[in-house]
Amino acid sequence: MTTKNDYLIQSIVAREVLDSRGNPTVACRVTLKSGASAEAKVPSGASTGSHEALELRDGGKRYGGKGVLKAVVNINKKVAPILKNIDVRRQKDIDHVMIELDGTSGKKKLGANAILAVSLACAQVHAVQAKKPLWQIIRKIYNFPRPAGLPVPTMNVLNGGAHANWSLDVQECMIVPLARKMSDRVRMGAEVFQALKKILAEKDFATTVGDEGGFAPKLKTVEAAFDLLKEAIKAAGYKPGKDVALATDVAASEFYDSSKAVYVFRAEGGREFTSDKLLDRYLAWQKKYPLVSIEDPFAEDDWAAWSGSFSRLSKRSHIVGDDLLVTNIARLDKAVAEKTCNAILIKVNQIGTLTEAVSAIIMAHKNGFATSISHRSGETDDTTIADLAVASGSEYIKTGSLSRSERVEKYNRLLEIEENEM
Ligand code: PGA
Ligand code: ZN
Repeated sequence: MTTKNDYLIQSIVAREVLDSRGNPTVACRVTLKSGASAEAKVPSGASTGSHEALELRDGGKRYGGKGVLKAVVNINKKVAPILKNIDVRRQKDIDHVMIELDGTSGKKKLGANAILAVSLACAQVHAVQAKKPLWQIIRKIYNFPRPAGLPVPTMNVLNGGAHANWSLDVQECMIVPLARKMSDRVRMGAEVFQALKKILAEKDFATTVGDEGGFAPKLKTVEAAFDLLKEAIKAAGYKPGKDVALATDVAASEFYDSSKAVYVFRAEGGREFTSDKLLDRYLAWQKKYPLVSIEDPFAEDDWAAWSGSFSRLSKRSHIVGDDLLVTNIARLDKAVAEKTCNAILIKVNQIGTLTEAVSAIIMAHKNGFATSISHRSGETDDTTIADLAVASGSEYIKTGSLSRSERVEKYNRLLEIEENEM
């Protein structure tokens, strides 16, 4: 017999753990009066947008300044006493209490990493107590305009930029399997990934992987990367564009020189592009390669370049705002008004609560935007984003390559949802 009291929060305890890059991150366990318990872990980016909520780090010598003990103490000493005895099903209230307790726009006082850890752990333990899959609980909490559904994965099999020591100027070259079933999408992605490995080895490229589990060969140009992906898709027995499409995250903020208003391709010998010239290059890519989406084609504050190119770029691809929008409804509102893009990347730690991330998803869908629920380059075994993608009926999920268990676990969770829960 469950009683009303079972859902009351008994304790909230945070601790410092490691992420997939060996940097500290926040884990938080929420336990209910019933004894039900769950622990969430927060991810961490490397090519972090400057408008993201604050990831609170300790500074000093310990862990090279990256410790998160301040965030841990904020949870244990400030958040936990306030949330004790609250019904964990009141997710929106819980998130708002923390937003108010912090009181700053960028969660600068408590840290978005502290607040998010509690927020996600509450949703997880709610699901444990209800004995329901997490995605069903997320749907229960929020009023999504769309039915639940399995997302199309955009799989980052070639890593560049800040994730692979600039072996390639664009940060991510992704494959996008277009099969109807999730199990086929995952299998096709893995087959192309293995084919790519073989091709790289035959061409004497390194087959070591970057932060998101994709290969990181030193290639001369971005076009060479797309050519390799087409070759790998064919080698795996598929048709590029028909069975498996491509996508890219340019992450252009990372190589924008604002003093000269140019984009500098350092892996290509420092070639400089104005936003107009860069647009021409993107249009050429779209002609030659089946790109379903282009993320962050311009820098996070280069709004003029975004809006000036949108009508031409959006004819063939989703144009995705990541650093531009940082899962923030104020920036999304501006993007809708100024017609800068038609898709948003959703990263829960960019904004810091599940409730605010869901608000961005709902606002995006109401405005005809596609959504892509995304991991960070620093990850853990936490698979909440897979459930969030399904709950919201998002078009895409972006969760890395077909290697490294912190990436693969999200695909495995999607397989489990498809097989056992839908
Ligand atoms: P990040 O990269 O997690 O290092 O920010 C992911 C992305 O830019 O999409
Ligand atoms: Zn990005």
